[in-house]
Amino acid sequence: MTQENGGFAALDLHPNVLAAVIATGYEEPSAIQIQAIPVILAGHDMIGQAQTGTGKTAAFALPILSRIDPAKRQPQALILAPTRELALQVATAFETYAKQMPGVNVIAVYGGAPMGPQLKAIRNGAQIVVATPGRLVDHLRRDEKVLSTIQHLVLDEADEMLKLGFMDDLEVIFKAMPESRQTVLFSATLPHSIRSIAEKHLRDPKHVRIETKTQTVTAIEQVHLMVHADQKQAAVLRLLEVEEFDALIGFVRTKQATLDLASALEAKGYKAAALNGDIAQNQRERVIESLKDGRLDIVIATDVAARGLDVPRITHVMNVDMPYDPESYVHRIGRTGRAGRTGRALLLVTPRERRMLQVIERVTGQKVGEVKLPDAQQVLDARIKKLTNSLAPLVADAEASHGELLDRLTADIGCSPRALAAALLRKATNGQALTLAEVERDQPLVPGGSSSGPRERSERSERPDREGSRERRAPVPVGEGRARCRTALGARDGIAAKNLLGAILNEGGLVREAIGRIQVRESFSLVELPEEGLENLLSKLKDTRVGGKPLKLRRYRED
Ligand code: AMP
Repeated sequence: MTQENGGFAALDLHPNVLAAVIATGYEEPSAIQIQAIPVILAGHDMIGQAQTGTGKTAAFALPILSRIDPAKRQPQALILAPTRELALQVATAFETYAKQMPGVNVIAVYGGAPMGPQLKAIRNGAQIVVATPGRLVDHLRRDEKVLSTIQHLVLDEADEMLKLGFMDDLEVIFKAMPESRQTVLFSATLPHSIRSIAEKHLRDPKHVRIETKTQTVTAIEQVHLMVHADQKQAAVLRLLEVEEFDALIGFVRTKQATLDLASALEAKGYKAAALNGDIAQNQRERVIESLKDGRLDIVIATDVAARGLDVPRITHVMNVDMPYDPESYVHRIGRTGRAGRTGRALLLVTPRERRMLQVIERVTGQKVGEVKLPDAQQVLDARIKKLTNSLAPLVADAEASHGELLDRLTADIGCSPRALAAALLRKATNGQALTLAEVERDQPLVPGGSSSGPRERSERSERPDREGSRERRAPVPVGEGRARCRTALGARDGIAAKNLLGAILNEGGLVREAIGRIQVRESFSLVELPEEGLENLLSKLKDTRVGGKPLKLRRYRED
């Protein structure tokens, strides 16, 4: 067990960075982190082949934070990301890892927000700048010296940046930085265009990639479910309703997540416990014993804590958080299907992690079929089935033992045996929702992150529709599960679809796929938002401003 975070401690990170990592609850470095951190710390240029979900952000953020000088109030590291959303994520990650480094400031620079405050923050000495290329070039036009002190450059998701047509912008940015800088390039794929950038702009780069040996997995049925990150817990609860498991182990990434999910499950009446590296050895053994003998049915664990765990009762493995690499996936799901039994492995995939799913399929040589989130009817059917299964064995001799009592009670109360049976059922089911309407009310449907949804949008892929004549066009039918909303901001206010998208994603805490069509007209705009939770979302967005003007989104009724 790595109680002391031995894995991270061995990496030579700055003590304050290490302290922040320990505070986040990461138990051990992921494969890409183990390989990339020493290379970046040593100051080498590097090409890292890794996709989202491998822990690549920390793989560059931790060593870069360890190398900057907080006392110097000038930009020292620049991270380029293809989209506003990714830039914000990366900036947030840097802020988390810099929590124990007073004086370190991080600024995210992207289109759709006013330029003045961004430039001011850079000039005021933010050491870490996370930017989308387009907006950064706009800044360079205003101040060509703005990048002259950069010593570390990271191109994150470089292949995506090229796909979005940022090649020319990248060239402008390269030229504006000192040649002596360190350059690190992360890319999921290495097409010719990326290799030629590397040849031109990287010096003697080290290559880092996670070796993926083909692995065989037998006797385990594997499925995945697309889900938005903020809806994982609801999805887990829903899946558990219909999955017929004996014992289940769920994997998450952090200690805190083991505690959060285990207590949410306990609150729903499951016999569940957490297992993580902070739990003392004797307590850990107690948890495993309880799982073996049925006092527990669910254990939520981190990879480290579940190492070596062998419980034949486990019929299900749920990958609540994506494993860092295919090897750990194979390792995890190997906890089921023991002793010749068949097992079932479920994998929750957020829209950004789709590539990771493909890698897993390639490495295991198996298709991981898609399941949909069970709907209210399926949940109801599963509940009734469980009730039937629990009552059926009791019926055989109940009349002999309790028949007379039943006669007496019905006579005393003056009711029919049906009425009494119904009352007893109500008592036995203890308020559980057992009609369709009740189940629907209890568990509002989570709009699924279907894999057939629209492609992720980027800063550049939205085309505003400015022609006034189109304003009279017949209304387009709104997407299923979505509501159309209107804002009085339109093209005449200088608004483009990407501005609306960015603001709603950012302030509404949504993922890109939750948002449907965006139509920008001359004097107003229409945005399709999830019907589910709409009122909540609109109230979150109530003070949002776009291009300095209030967004004021309202539900739009066409009639
Ligand atoms: P990324 O691949 O950078 O998008 O990271 C995916 C997720 O993994 C993020 O939510 C990180 O917070 C998390 N993460 C990164 N490294 C670790 C680690 N060593 N242990 C646990 N979680 C991690």
